[in-house]
Amino acid sequence: MKSIEAANELLARQPRQTLGFYPTPLHKLERLSDELGINLYLKRDDLSGINLFGGNKIRKLEYLLGDAIFKNCDTVFTYGATQSNHAMQTTTACRRCGLEPILYLVSIVEPDSEGMRANLLLDYIFGAEVHVVSEHSGEEDAEQLAYQMGEAHAVRLKKEGRRPYIIPIGGASPIGSLGFISGFLELVGQMEAMGKPVDYLFHSTGTGGTLAGLAAGRALLGSNAKIVSIAASPKDPDYENHVSSLANQSLSLIGAEETVEPGDFIVDRDYFAPGYELPNEQGNNAIRRLARTEGILTDTVYSGKAFAGLLDYAESGRLPKGSNVVFLHTGGATALFAEKEIIGDLAEK
Ligand SMILES: *Cc1c(COP(=O)(O)O)cnc(C)c1O
Repeated sequence: MKSIEAANELLARQPRQTLGFYPTPLHKLERLSDELGINLYLKRDDLSGINLFGGNKIRKLEYLLGDAIFKNCDTVFTYGATQSNHAMQTTTACRRCGLEPILYLVSIVEPDSEGMRANLLLDYIFGAEVHVVSEHSGEEDAEQLAYQMGEAHAVRLKKEGRRPYIIPIGGASPIGSLGFISGFLELVGQMEAMGKPVDYLFHSTGTGGTLAGLAAGRALLGSNAKIVSIAASPKDPDYENHVSSLANQSLSLIGAEETVEPGDFIVDRDYFAPGYELPNEQGNNAIRRLARTEGILTDTVYSGKAFAGLLDYAESGRLPKGSNVVFLHTGGATALFAEKEIIGDLAEK
């Protein structure tokens, strides 16, 4: 068990490229807190910078691009869906550092043929080299195909003397997750400054890189925060093991002896139906409720569904009255400008 300072010292030995504006704000949602009978705080990683369209991937990218620059790389490959926040934020961050972004994107939802929208539009504005892999024979195959095409492309570039750096989908790697060790320490520091413990920490989980970092940070500090991670897509039963192994790899990377167990966090799979990038009524109601009580925007793919989970926990009595509950806002509101298939009936009620 370490102090925040000691834990930060371990992180400080890793290569890191400054990209975002940290610490991100933490503030209380007064009106919703009253409605729900809890102290509800919002940790604003949606405001990470480096432009209006930041989010949780920027913290990971500080370590990933730090490593890329340390290794003298000049080109960055990454992967995701055509409306991937991660791909867009990676592109943004690459431009900031003078690296060339190359994206292999799977069209889970077909891009709007009338024109580019949302994150895909931003990828083009930033001048990323975009390759779209159509989802023809099931999502997993297309993802595999995208990886193979990217790998082969990186090999070709190496032969030409370029130095590619490959970032896995979501930036979920032992290096990427260091960003959310740092994020967890930052959050606990901010709550401590207000004299409050973190009783619950809710957030949306996708590739698991964010959760791995949070769980590792929690282990480092010996914190009792209950982490509730709301799945944004189907997760196989092995997901918790995969995430804790990722967390442990991050911890050993920084030379920490603390470890994470799969039981250290809860992954709740009850809120993503009918699937990734497909909206549901509970999620869309949660988006409208947060927008109309607090003036804050979430999205249909990740943060809105996660917020729906938090509201449901609070309203079904699973969060004791008066507890200090933090919602980590991971960003993603560019999805509000994505294809109709992604936003559903959001504007209709
Ligand atoms: C990527 C993303 C997540 C999930 O983060 P992981 O580290 O992939 O689990 C959550 N919310 C938003 C808005 C995202 O873009």
